[in-house]
Amino acid sequence: MTDNHSPDRLPKKPRRLHIPHRSRHVPDSEWRRTYPGPVPPQWQDIAASKGFLIVDRVRDRNHVVLRCRECGADTVQKAYVLRTAQPICGGCLETRRLQDAAKCGFTLLERDEMHHKYGHYRLPCGHAARLQFGRVERLAREGKAAGRAGFHCPTCYAARLSSDAAARGWTLLGPDPEANPNYRSYRHDSCGHTQRIAIANIITGRVGCEQCGTCWSAAPSEIYVLAFEVPHKGSFIKLGYSRDPESRLRYQLGIPGSVEARVLYRFPMRTGHIAQKTEKALHGKLKQRFPDSVIPCNELADWINVKTEIYRADILPHVLTYLKAATANQQTSPRSGKPRSSG
Ligand SMILES: [Zn+2]
Ligand SMILES: [Zn+2]
Ligand SMILES: [Zn+2]
Repeated sequence: MTDNHSPDRLPKKPRRLHIPHRSRHVPDSEWRRTYPGPVPPQWQDIAASKGFLIVDRVRDRNHVVLRCRECGADTVQKAYVLRTAQPICGGCLETRRLQDAAKCGFTLLERDEMHHKYGHYRLPCGHAARLQFGRVERLAREGKAAGRAGFHCPTCYAARLSSDAAARGWTLLGPDPEANPNYRSYRHDSCGHTQRIAIANIITGRVGCEQCGTCWSAAPSEIYVLAFEVPHKGSFIKLGYSRDPESRLRYQLGIPGSVEARVLYRFPMRTGHIAQKTEKALHGKLKQRFPDSVIPCNELADWINVKTEIYRADILPHVLTYLKAATANQQTSPRSGKPRSSG
């Protein structure tokens, strides 16, 4: 605090002045114009009690410049705000935002001039993104949610959606025309038809083309029983249906290397539609007969991406009995339900 605080002497090079977002429309020159008149001593007392020193009156009789005792930065405030609320130091706020960004691995590039709650950040992958300060603050404070990947770079995410689509024979065109965030617009590579599809369905390949009629629900599918061991938690099974259970195991469920997992049984189903119906009915039965073996939603959130359709391994014999019967009912090939040696 070596500056001369006398209101009628300006420093040679103007100090940086933080302006609250509500006042940013006012030209800078207004804030640089000292208002003649002493600072009332009772204002100075209030400022001191709130961690500031009034170093100037500017623009008009209602505004003061507050110097933060913590960081030394100057912030313009209304005298009214000083009297009735805890003024925010622009310097401390900026420092906090820089630190929050650093904790997340981001770099805060600049404030968004269009919206005071947003800033522009450089993400670890190198892409830039416009993010809400509050969101970055939460991410810095709480860290990523258990079992989740944290913040997704929108650019990288779009690239991933494109490659998921390409793997299923579709091209990602852009956002959903009906503005559902879980859908996108896609073009079928083999016929050129464009339609909206749920992202989850592109990932699992449960997509039917409305034009050429290629349809997952009419194509053969399989119900699989997947077994996995979670350290210190025990053995579990997961049921599901897929045209390609092995790829589902590795890629979609996001099972980390520390969890031993394999596809135990595969029951061929004549169509995806039958597989879906059979699986749904089985889940209903298991929930009713073995409620204690159903794994609660968040119990394995750190280990596996999917939170439902997971059971304790001890009900496996009942699951197999049911699936064998269901398979026999639709008269499928003799390899049904044969144990597999590995996943
Ligand atoms: Zn400060
Ligand atoms: Zn990125
Ligand atoms: Zn098509």
